[in-house]
Amino acid sequence: MICQLNISDKFRSLNFDKRKKKISFIILHYTETKTLEEAISLLTDQERKVSCHFILDINGKIFNLVDLENRAWHAGESKWKNFKDLNSHSIGIEIVYPGEKSDSMYAKKQIKSLIDLITFLKKKYNIKNNRILGHSDIAPLRKIDPGKFFPWEELDKFSLGIWVKTKKDNTKLNKDEYLKFLINLKKIGYGYFSNKINKKKVIDSFHRHHLPSLTGCPPTKSSLFKSQDILNLKKID
Ligand SMILES: [Zn+2]
Repeated sequence: MICQLNISDKFRSLNFDKRKKKISFIILHYTETKTLEEAISLLTDQERKVSCHFILDINGKIFNLVDLENRAWHAGESKWKNFKDLNSHSIGIEIVYPGEKSDSMYAKKQIKSLIDLITFLKKKYNIKNNRILGHSDIAPLRKIDPGKFFPWEELDKFSLGIWVKTKKDNTKLNKDEYLKFLINLKKIGYGYFSNKINKKKVIDSFHRHHLPSLTGCPPTKSSLFKSQDILNLKKID
């Protein structure tokens, strides 16, 4: 269906409705399955009401399950800046991967295909880098995919998504710095700060994407610097 990319339409999902909003985000997920077949069976099960536009197998093969003019059901309850219901605004890409707890790396061929696919979609729909996000970024209270092993740094080499290098400082934040850090996260786009438990989950989500080694840990000066460096990027709107 799409240009030079080799995309198969061998599997189709009926779990979608009509898209009414313009495409302006790409949301990345992992399947939490060992195989493509297991993932396809979930994403095409009409009882489960979940789907995605594309799924990438471990060998790098790309499958299109739902047409882009339709609204696939991959994001669920979600928020980013002033956007809600990210399903309406996004393209959902699932990556076959057993999950963060497996402690495994993503397959090289798979990431190469993903880079090709995102490069094509970003250009075609004029998607900004700060709108190429993980499921955990837009639904931090419920989701951790694509997980702390997802290679955001590798994507950045191809000018996809946001990744900045920041100096390391493991000093704990004082109260003012902590508040400043939370304000920065809000400015970057994160939502759901309503209570202490939620704040911790949002911070985890930020770490998972931008400072994976701090996932599960309290924020440090590195976290604050990183949030500041992201906001200083010209490409953040
Ligand atoms: Zn997901």
